[in-house]
Amino acid sequence: MPAPRLEIDLAKIHHNASQLVTQFALQGISITGVCKATLGLTEVANTMCDAGVRFLADSHIENIESMRRDGVRAEMTLIRSPMLSQVARVVASADVSLNTEIEVIQRLSAAAQKIDRVHGVVLMVELGDRREGIMPDDLLMVVGETLRLPNIVLKGIGTNLACRNGISPDVKNMAELSALADLIEATFEIKLDLVSGGNSANVDWGLSESPPGRINNLRLGESILLGCETLHRQPIPDLFTDAFTLVAEVIESNIKPSKPEGVCAQTAFGEVGVALDCGLVMQSILAIGRQDIDPEGLVAPTGIEVMAASSDHMIVVSETDCLALGSEVAFQLNYSALLLAMTSPFVAKVIKKGQTVSACSAHNKPYPLYKHLI
Ligand SMILES: *Cc1c(COP(=O)(O)O)cnc(C)c1O
Repeated sequence: MPAPRLEIDLAKIHHNASQLVTQFALQGISITGVCKATLGLTEVANTMCDAGVRFLADSHIENIESMRRDGVRAEMTLIRSPMLSQVARVVASADVSLNTEIEVIQRLSAAAQKIDRVHGVVLMVELGDRREGIMPDDLLMVVGETLRLPNIVLKGIGTNLACRNGISPDVKNMAELSALADLIEATFEIKLDLVSGGNSANVDWGLSESPPGRINNLRLGESILLGCETLHRQPIPDLFTDAFTLVAEVIESNIKPSKPEGVCAQTAFGEVGVALDCGLVMQSILAIGRQDIDPEGLVAPTGIEVMAASSDHMIVVSETDCLALGSEVAFQLNYSALLLAMTSPFVAKVIKKGQTVSACSAHNKPYPLYKHLI
């Protein structure tokens, strides 16, 4: 099997998605499966759909286009406000986009008219995390202007918390979103299909006793893929946290002094070395690095510790035996390590379906986005 590789267990992703879909359905909340961490990998997208997610979403139009090319059948939402330079691609491939700028929506309208399509718009509202969103006081004005635009349909409103400042979704800000939905409907005499309350940071709020109000959708990525909520990174009961495993190969193994020797200046990544002296250690080098993973985001097997990584070498120390040259070490990953591993062309993506394991060729190649630059 190729190394390094990311093994992707579709059965575990299916289990996680279907648990979340079922639990949130009890609250009247539909799930949008967010594919961006897997670069819109078709097998993962189809698995989420089989497990009952209502819509799929991604932040990159490139990923939505590749899922479409591979025949993934689902309504697809672009969850980052479209670039003006990409509006034609957005209306061609995405059914819906999350929006915060009226000028973008005007350009989506013009692009949609050109190809005779109707594009759905969800207006994002800023409720405290200070990333994307229309300020609540401006919302009615933007709704009014959106409703006038040809080939645009206002699907609903949404918010995104926790990503920038870690602001928690709670009873107060969720009630504020519900109240805004009511206000829009009363003011314009319309019905909003979608009130999208947030991302995996909303899992605790959503599964608590508090009534969901008008919120009828969540956009979930990390909780489906890694089985944890994202405010405190606690595992969600009954979900798998090990659907992804990173495997790397040993290219050097030796007993070395842990204490560096010589004059200490900056490392490859600008840090100043502060190695502790633990005497002689059983040190191995794995053929993987910061170009492929975030070393802080890896969980090593018992008895092995990640010490450092440069762009292409990762150093581990083993407590018991020297790792054999050519042997493999398997790690669990957090979201940051997963993002990098999925995006690195050097990490093979290997799909596990039940007992069968198959290499996924499309994503072993450099990410298609870069093709036209070569
Ligand atoms: C990334 C993202 C999500 C999904 O976030 P997770 O933490 O992976 O669930 C949802 N909504 C928006 C706008 C996003 O950018």
